[in-house]
Amino acid sequence: MVNTERLNHTFCDLVRIYAPSGKEGGVRDYLKRYLMRLGARVTEDGAGAATGGACGNLIAVFPANAEGLPGVAFTAHMDCVEKCEGIEPVLEDGVYRSKGDTILGGDDKAGVAAILEALAVMKETMIPHGKILAAFTVQEETSLGGSRHFEGKYAEGIDFGYVLDADGAPGTLINAGPGEYKITCTMHGRAAHAGIAPEKGVNAVKMAAAAIARIESGRVDEETTCNVGVIEGGLATNIVPETCVVRAEARSRSREKLEAVVARMTEAFRSAEADFPGGRAEVETELLYEGFHIDEDHPAMRLARAACAEKGFPVRVTSTGGGSDANWFNRNAFPAMLLGVGMTDFHTSAESLAEKDLIDSAELVYAIIEAESHVCGH
Ligand SMILES: [Zn+2]
Repeated sequence: MVNTERLNHTFCDLVRIYAPSGKEGGVRDYLKRYLMRLGARVTEDGAGAATGGACGNLIAVFPANAEGLPGVAFTAHMDCVEKCEGIEPVLEDGVYRSKGDTILGGDDKAGVAAILEALAVMKETMIPHGKILAAFTVQEETSLGGSRHFEGKYAEGIDFGYVLDADGAPGTLINAGPGEYKITCTMHGRAAHAGIAPEKGVNAVKMAAAAIARIESGRVDEETTCNVGVIEGGLATNIVPETCVVRAEARSRSREKLEAVVARMTEAFRSAEADFPGGRAEVETELLYEGFHIDEDHPAMRLARAACAEKGFPVRVTSTGGGSDANWFNRNAFPAMLLGVGMTDFHTSAESLAEKDLIDSAELVYAIIEAESHVCGH
């Protein structure tokens, strides 16, 4: 069904284009040409301006050609991490690797190429489908900036979507991910000479230490984690340190538990004020993104399962501990889940991608579109 020669060609074209976060223009131009050839209505949104990047999200719409079928989105990101200049993909024994010391870029060009190929086949076979939206985002790797600034108006008539940006063979369905908070605490003590007048000082490093000792860390419960990651403070051993900055994070798939753990951390930081009279704890918390959960009986899950069954791909339903575009699409636009596209050792020069996984990913996207009329049709 999928044209493997065309798909391999597209994948290699895409990874060769230099596209670090914020400079996705080359990939955008390639996709624009490809999608317009397929007859899509193509728009670039304002995410470039909003994030300070050179390029916005590219959004392609294929109107429904049948009644009563759901609007479905497929998304992948255009950017990749360094080192990604001059990537030369090599296919050997059915596995793609990079020739030099660069990454391969299968994260996320595997997803991008799979979507393009499935859409090309969709146009060729003229199967009945609802409205189809393909969204290619910017700056996923640095800040989820593209999906963060994706506006709901572009997803009108879209019922749910799939983000092709996860490891695991096609058939890996990721239906939940955590929300994340960044917590920054600045301990304000009082500087004094450590030898001559230590009693005049308030030690900000000791304040931080006391607070950190009260903060839970690691896996808090099955769906919640927490980490104190950075501590910076003090100037010299002969000065009672005046300030100390502590940076931490918390994640949970449950919004309630996330708020609760952040409240406990804030409380622990503040408690240092009581132990160190004259000291002050300044705590800032920022929600980086919200978590998501797609129920087992949600049409997005039913359609994905039906497509996997059609293709004979074993289904593995799992959750992720990381953040992705899915977090923001769920909030801004439509219920979204992640699909595994098979990339391994991504973000390193050892990155690889099995050709079979690339082909299966394209087959899966096509099968999801095809399953619409069986699963959701009237
Ligand atoms: Zn990715």
